[in-house]
Amino acid sequence: MIQLFIPLNFLGFVYREIREALINIERLFRLTEVPPRVVDRPGAKALRPRGGEVRFEGVSFAYGPQRPILKEVSFTVPPGGKLAIVGPSGAGKSTIARLLFRFYDVDAGCIRVDGEDIRDLTQDSLRAAMGVVPQDTVLFNDTIYYNIAYGRPDATPEAVHRAARLAHLEGFIQSLPEGYDTLVGERGLKLSGGEKQRIAIARVLLKDPPLLVLDEATSSLDSQAERSILEALSEVAAQRTTLAIAHRLSTIRDADNILVLEQGRVVEQGRHEDLLTAGGLYARLWHRQQAGAEEGPLPASGPGA
Ligand code: ATP
Repeated sequence: MIQLFIPLNFLGFVYREIREALINIERLFRLTEVPPRVVDRPGAKALRPRGGEVRFEGVSFAYGPQRPILKEVSFTVPPGGKLAIVGPSGAGKSTIARLLFRFYDVDAGCIRVDGEDIRDLTQDSLRAAMGVVPQDTVLFNDTIYYNIAYGRPDATPEAVHRAARLAHLEGFIQSLPEGYDTLVGERGLKLSGGEKQRIAIARVLLKDPPLLVLDEATSSLDSQAERSILEALSEVAAQRTTLAIAHRLSTIRDADNILVLEQGRVVEQGRHEDLLTAGGLYARLWHRQQAGAEEGPLPASGPGA
Protein backbone atom coordinates (compact mmCIF):
# COMPACT_ATOMS: atom_id res chain seq x y z
CA MET A 1 0.00 0.00 0.00
CA ILE A 2 2.77 2.37 0.95
CA GLN A 3 4.67 1.40 -2.19
CA LEU A 4 1.65 2.26 -4.31
CA PHE A 5 1.02 5.47 -2.46
CA ILE A 6 4.45 7.01 -3.03
CA PRO A 7 4.50 6.83 -6.84
CA LEU A 8 0.92 8.07 -7.05
CA ASN A 9 1.76 10.92 -4.76
CA PHE A 10 4.80 11.69 -6.87
CA LEU A 11 2.75 11.58 -10.05
CA GLY A 12 0.29 13.97 -8.45
CA PHE A 13 3.18 16.32 -7.76
CA VAL A 14 4.44 16.11 -11.33
CA TYR A 15 0.93 16.65 -12.66
CA ARG A 16 0.50 19.74 -10.47
CA GLU A 17 3.82 21.16 -11.60
CA ILE A 18 3.02 20.66 -15.28
CA ARG A 19 -0.46 22.03 -14.85
CA GLU A 20 0.87 25.07 -13.08
CA ALA A 21 3.42 25.71 -15.81
CA LEU A 22 0.68 25.53 -18.43
CA ILE A 23 -1.56 27.85 -16.46
CA ASN A 24 1.32 30.29 -16.14
CA ILE A 25 1.83 30.31 -19.90
CA GLU A 26 -1.89 30.63 -20.46
CA ARG A 27 -2.16 33.54 -18.11
CA LEU A 28 0.88 35.21 -19.53
CA PHE A 29 -1.02 35.61 -22.76
CA ARG A 30 -4.27 36.62 -21.14
CA LEU A 31 -4.28 39.88 -23.05
CA THR A 32 -4.51 37.73 -26.03
CA GLU A 33 -6.14 34.38 -25.24
CA VAL A 34 -3.92 32.73 -27.83
CA PRO A 35 -5.93 30.76 -30.34
CA PRO A 36 -3.85 28.20 -32.21
CA ARG A 37 -5.25 28.96 -35.66
CA VAL A 38 -2.77 31.56 -36.92
CA VAL A 39 0.16 29.89 -38.65
CA ASP A 40 3.19 31.35 -40.39
CA ARG A 41 2.86 31.59 -44.14
CA PRO A 42 5.33 29.41 -46.09
CA GLY A 43 8.37 31.60 -46.70
CA ALA A 44 7.34 34.09 -43.99
CA LYS A 45 10.22 36.44 -43.29
CA ALA A 46 11.62 37.81 -40.07
CA LEU A 47 10.70 41.36 -39.15
CA ARG A 48 13.69 43.64 -39.03
CA PRO A 49 12.26 46.53 -37.06
CA ARG A 50 13.37 49.96 -38.22
CA GLY A 51 11.46 52.70 -36.41
CA GLY A 52 8.43 50.66 -35.32
CA GLU A 53 5.72 52.38 -37.39
CA VAL A 54 2.28 50.77 -36.91
CA ARG A 55 -0.50 51.15 -39.49
CA PHE A 56 -4.01 49.77 -39.44
CA GLU A 57 -5.54 50.09 -42.91
CA GLY A 58 -9.32 49.56 -43.02
CA VAL A 59 -9.17 46.68 -40.54
CA SER A 60 -12.36 44.72 -39.95
CA PHE A 61 -12.56 41.74 -37.64
CA ALA A 62 -15.05 39.40 -35.95
CA TYR A 63 -14.33 36.61 -33.45
CA GLY A 64 -17.28 34.67 -34.88
CA PRO A 65 -19.48 34.98 -37.95
CA GLN A 66 -22.39 36.68 -36.27
CA ARG A 67 -20.88 39.73 -34.68
CA PRO A 68 -18.48 42.22 -36.28
CA ILE A 69 -16.18 43.66 -33.62
CA LEU A 70 -13.89 46.06 -35.54
CA LYS A 71 -15.23 47.93 -38.55
CA GLU A 72 -12.80 49.52 -41.01
CA VAL A 73 -10.41 50.78 -38.37
CA SER A 74 -7.57 52.92 -39.75
CA PHE A 75 -4.78 54.75 -37.95
CA THR A 76 -1.03 55.29 -38.14
CA VAL A 77 1.39 55.51 -35.26
CA PRO A 78 4.65 56.98 -36.54
CA PRO A 79 7.98 55.57 -35.29
CA GLY A 80 8.29 56.50 -31.61
CA GLY A 81 4.76 57.97 -31.56
CA LYS A 82 2.17 57.54 -28.79
CA LEU A 83 -1.37 56.46 -29.57
CA ALA A 84 -4.01 56.16 -26.86
CA ILE A 85 -7.06 54.04 -27.57
CA VAL A 86 -10.18 54.92 -25.61
CA GLY A 87 -13.84 54.07 -25.77
CA PRO A 88 -16.63 52.43 -23.85
CA SER A 89 -16.30 48.90 -22.50
CA GLY A 90 -16.55 46.34 -25.28
CA ALA A 91 -15.73 48.86 -28.03
CA GLY A 92 -12.84 46.70 -29.28
CA LYS A 93 -9.78 48.32 -27.68
CA SER A 94 -8.06 45.12 -26.53
CA THR A 95 -9.00 43.46 -29.82
CA ILE A 96 -6.76 45.99 -31.59
CA ALA A 97 -3.84 44.85 -29.40
CA ARG A 98 -4.63 41.17 -30.03
CA LEU A 99 -4.63 41.73 -33.79
CA LEU A 100 -1.35 43.63 -33.65
CA PHE A 101 0.21 40.64 -31.86
CA ARG A 102 -1.39 38.55 -34.59
CA PHE A 103 -3.21 36.23 -32.27
CA TYR A 104 -5.94 36.46 -34.89
CA ASP A 105 -5.85 37.46 -38.55
CA VAL A 106 -7.93 40.38 -39.79
CA ASP A 107 -10.99 39.62 -41.92
CA ALA A 108 -10.45 42.66 -44.14
CA GLY A 109 -7.81 45.38 -44.44
CA CYS A 110 -4.23 45.10 -43.36
CA ILE A 111 -1.93 45.71 -40.39
CA ARG A 112 1.59 46.88 -41.19
CA VAL A 113 4.65 47.20 -38.98
CA ASP A 114 7.38 49.23 -40.64
CA GLY A 115 5.55 48.83 -43.91
CA GLU A 116 5.37 45.01 -43.75
CA ASP A 117 1.99 43.26 -43.75
CA ILE A 118 2.23 41.28 -40.52
CA ARG A 119 0.79 38.21 -42.29
CA ASP A 120 4.05 38.04 -44.27
CA LEU A 121 6.17 37.94 -41.11
CA THR A 122 7.06 35.14 -38.73
CA GLN A 123 5.06 35.41 -35.53
CA ASP A 124 8.19 34.93 -33.45
CA SER A 125 9.93 37.92 -34.98
CA LEU A 126 6.79 40.06 -34.73
CA ARG A 127 6.32 39.29 -31.04
CA ALA A 128 10.01 39.68 -30.33
CA ALA A 129 9.62 43.30 -31.45
CA MET A 130 6.81 43.97 -28.98
CA GLY A 131 6.61 44.43 -25.26
CA VAL A 132 3.43 44.45 -23.26
CA VAL A 133 2.49 45.75 -19.85
CA PRO A 134 -0.78 43.88 -19.31
CA GLN A 135 -3.68 44.59 -16.97
CA ASP A 136 -2.74 41.74 -14.74
CA THR A 137 0.89 40.67 -14.73
CA VAL A 138 1.60 37.00 -14.27
CA LEU A 139 4.30 36.09 -11.78
CA PHE A 140 6.09 32.78 -11.82
CA ASN A 141 6.61 30.92 -8.57
CA ASP A 142 10.24 31.88 -8.50
CA THR A 143 12.49 34.70 -7.34
CA ILE A 144 12.02 38.38 -8.14
CA TYR A 145 15.23 38.17 -10.14
CA TYR A 146 13.90 35.32 -12.30
CA ASN A 147 10.60 37.12 -12.77
CA ILE A 148 12.32 40.18 -14.18
CA ALA A 149 14.90 38.33 -16.23
CA TYR A 150 12.97 35.38 -17.67
CA GLY A 151 12.28 37.08 -21.01
CA ARG A 152 16.02 37.50 -21.50
CA PRO A 153 17.82 34.72 -19.66
CA ASP A 154 21.14 35.93 -21.06
CA ALA A 155 20.80 39.32 -19.36
CA THR A 156 23.62 40.27 -17.02
CA PRO A 157 22.85 40.98 -13.35
CA GLU A 158 23.77 44.63 -14.02
CA ALA A 159 21.14 44.84 -16.76
CA VAL A 160 18.51 43.24 -14.51
CA HIS A 161 19.32 45.67 -11.69
CA ARG A 162 19.22 48.61 -14.06
CA ALA A 163 15.77 47.56 -15.35
CA ALA A 164 14.53 47.26 -11.76
CA ARG A 165 15.89 50.70 -10.96
CA LEU A 166 14.23 52.31 -13.98
CA ALA A 167 10.97 50.57 -13.10
CA HIS A 168 11.13 52.15 -9.62
CA LEU A 169 11.44 48.72 -8.01
CA GLU A 170 14.80 49.01 -6.37
CA GLY A 171 13.72 50.49 -3.03
CA PHE A 172 11.05 47.83 -2.71
CA ILE A 173 13.49 45.00 -3.51
CA GLN A 174 16.08 46.36 -1.08
CA SER A 175 13.45 46.37 1.68
CA LEU A 176 12.97 42.59 1.34
CA PRO A 177 15.15 40.42 3.58
CA GLU A 178 16.26 38.28 0.67
CA GLY A 179 16.31 41.04 -1.94
CA TYR A 180 16.29 39.73 -5.51
CA ASP A 181 16.24 36.15 -4.19
CA THR A 182 12.86 36.59 -2.53
CA LEU A 183 10.35 34.05 -3.78
CA VAL A 184 7.16 35.56 -5.18
CA GLY A 185 3.95 34.22 -6.66
CA GLU A 186 1.38 31.91 -5.20
CA ARG A 187 3.90 30.12 -3.01
CA GLY A 188 5.94 33.17 -2.06
CA LEU A 189 5.51 36.80 -1.33
CA LYS A 190 2.28 38.25 -2.67
CA LEU A 191 2.89 41.49 -4.54
CA SER A 192 0.47 44.36 -4.88
CA GLY A 193 -1.01 45.29 -8.27
CA GLY A 194 1.43 48.18 -8.55
CA GLU A 195 4.47 46.07 -7.68
CA LYS A 196 3.44 43.49 -10.27
CA GLN A 197 3.04 46.19 -12.89
CA ARG A 198 6.50 47.48 -12.07
CA ILE A 199 7.86 43.96 -12.61
CA ALA A 200 6.15 43.98 -16.03
CA ILE A 201 7.76 47.34 -16.77
CA ALA A 202 11.18 46.02 -15.72
CA ARG A 203 10.69 43.00 -18.04
CA VAL A 204 9.90 45.31 -20.95
CA LEU A 205 12.92 47.49 -20.18
CA LEU A 206 15.11 44.44 -20.22
CA LYS A 207 13.58 43.12 -23.46
CA ASP A 208 13.98 46.57 -25.02
CA PRO A 209 11.49 46.16 -27.87
CA PRO A 210 10.77 48.97 -30.37
CA LEU A 211 6.99 48.55 -29.91
CA LEU A 212 5.10 48.76 -26.66
CA VAL A 213 1.49 47.94 -25.79
CA LEU A 214 0.15 49.16 -22.48
CA ASP A 215 -3.13 47.57 -21.52
CA GLU A 216 -4.76 49.76 -18.90
CA ALA A 217 -1.45 49.92 -17.21
CA THR A 218 -2.55 51.83 -14.14
CA SER A 219 -5.77 50.01 -13.40
CA SER A 220 -5.19 48.80 -9.87
CA LEU A 221 -3.28 51.56 -8.20
CA ASP A 222 -3.77 54.33 -5.70
CA SER A 223 -2.73 57.74 -6.93
CA GLN A 224 0.70 57.78 -5.24
CA ALA A 225 1.57 54.43 -6.80
CA GLU A 226 0.04 55.57 -10.06
CA ARG A 227 2.30 58.60 -10.27
CA SER A 228 5.35 56.45 -9.74
CA ILE A 229 4.19 53.95 -12.38
CA LEU A 230 3.37 56.69 -14.85
CA GLU A 231 6.84 58.11 -14.42
CA ALA A 232 8.39 54.71 -15.00
CA LEU A 233 6.13 54.13 -18.00
CA SER A 234 6.95 57.42 -19.64
CA GLU A 235 10.62 56.50 -19.37
CA VAL A 236 9.90 53.12 -20.99
CA ALA A 237 7.76 54.69 -23.70
CA ALA A 238 10.21 57.50 -24.46
CA GLN A 239 12.02 55.80 -27.32
CA ARG A 240 9.28 53.46 -28.41
CA THR A 241 6.19 53.40 -30.55
CA THR A 242 3.48 53.02 -27.92
CA LEU A 243 -0.17 51.96 -28.07
CA ALA A 244 -1.90 52.56 -24.75
CA ILE A 245 -5.35 51.18 -24.05
CA ALA A 246 -6.74 53.54 -21.47
CA HIS A 247 -9.79 53.53 -19.28
CA ARG A 248 -8.98 56.60 -17.27
CA LEU A 249 -8.73 59.50 -19.62
CA SER A 250 -6.61 61.58 -17.26
CA THR A 251 -3.68 59.22 -17.87
CA ILE A 252 -3.53 59.85 -21.63
CA ARG A 253 -4.02 63.61 -21.94
CA ASP A 254 -0.54 64.05 -23.38
CA ALA A 255 -0.80 61.35 -26.07
CA ASP A 256 0.18 62.49 -29.59
CA ASN A 257 -3.04 61.01 -30.91
CA ILE A 258 -6.16 59.63 -29.24
CA LEU A 259 -8.32 57.13 -31.09
CA VAL A 260 -11.91 57.06 -29.89
CA LEU A 261 -13.67 53.78 -30.59
CA GLU A 262 -17.37 53.14 -30.34
CA GLN A 263 -18.85 49.75 -31.18
CA GLY A 264 -15.78 48.86 -33.23
CA ARG A 265 -15.63 52.07 -35.28
CA VAL A 266 -13.22 54.98 -35.00
CA VAL A 267 -15.62 57.83 -34.28
CA GLU A 268 -13.01 60.48 -33.49
CA GLN A 269 -9.26 60.88 -33.59
CA GLY A 270 -7.00 63.72 -32.42
CA ARG A 271 -5.32 65.38 -29.48
CA HIS A 272 -7.00 65.88 -26.12
CA GLU A 273 -7.74 69.61 -26.52
CA ASP A 274 -9.04 69.20 -30.05
CA LEU A 275 -11.33 66.36 -29.04
CA LEU A 276 -12.69 68.39 -26.15
CA THR A 277 -13.39 71.30 -28.49
CA ALA A 278 -15.09 68.96 -30.96
CA GLY A 279 -17.65 68.15 -28.25
CA GLY A 280 -18.23 64.53 -29.34
CA LEU A 281 -18.00 61.17 -27.56
CA TYR A 282 -14.55 61.88 -26.11
CA ALA A 283 -15.74 65.16 -24.60
CA ARG A 284 -18.78 63.41 -23.11
CA LEU A 285 -16.64 60.62 -21.62
CA TRP A 286 -14.16 63.18 -20.29
CA HIS A 287 -16.81 65.33 -18.62
CA ARG A 288 -18.45 62.25 -17.15
CA GLN A 289 -15.15 61.08 -15.64
CA GLN A 290 -14.35 64.57 -14.39
CA ALA A 291 -17.74 64.64 -12.69
CA GLY A 292 -16.72 61.81 -10.43
CA ALA A 293 -16.73 58.47 -12.19
CA GLU A 294 -12.94 58.74 -12.76
CA GLU A 295 -12.07 55.49 -11.01
CA GLY A 296 -14.24 53.10 -12.95
CA PRO A 297 -13.99 51.78 -16.48
CA LEU A 298 -15.92 53.60 -19.16
CA PRO A 299 -19.44 52.19 -19.35
CA ALA A 300 -20.56 50.17 -22.35
CA SER A 301 -21.97 52.22 -25.18
CA GLY A 302 -25.46 51.77 -26.49
CA PRO A 303 -28.88 53.12 -25.66
CA GLY A 304 -28.76 55.22 -22.53
CA ALA A 305 -24.95 55.06 -22.21
P1 ATP B 1 -13.02 46.67 -22.07
O1 ATP B 1 -12.82 48.15 -22.01
O2 ATP B 1 -14.23 46.24 -21.31
O3 ATP B 1 -11.79 45.87 -21.75
P2 ATP B 1 -12.58 46.48 -24.93
O4 ATP B 1 -12.96 47.74 -25.62
O5 ATP B 1 -11.14 46.22 -24.72
O6 ATP B 1 -13.40 46.35 -23.59
P3 ATP B 1 -12.56 43.97 -26.36
O7 ATP B 1 -11.94 43.15 -25.27
O8 ATP B 1 -11.74 44.31 -27.53
O9 ATP B 1 -13.24 45.29 -25.77
O10 ATP B 1 -13.86 43.19 -26.83
C1 ATP B 1 -14.70 43.69 -27.86
C2 ATP B 1 -15.88 42.74 -28.02
O11 ATP B 1 -15.39 41.47 -28.46
C3 ATP B 1 -16.62 42.50 -26.72
O12 ATP B 1 -18.01 42.53 -26.99
C4 ATP B 1 -16.20 41.11 -26.32
O13 ATP B 1 -17.25 40.45 -25.69
C5 ATP B 1 -15.87 40.44 -27.62
N1 ATP B 1 -14.79 39.46 -27.44
C6 ATP B 1 -13.60 39.67 -26.88
N2 ATP B 1 -12.84 38.55 -26.90
C7 ATP B 1 -13.59 37.61 -27.51
C8 ATP B 1 -13.38 36.24 -27.86
N3 ATP B 1 -12.22 35.61 -27.58
N4 ATP B 1 -14.39 35.59 -28.46
C9 ATP B 1 -15.56 36.20 -28.76
N5 ATP B 1 -15.82 37.49 -28.47
C10 ATP B 1 -14.86 38.18 -27.85
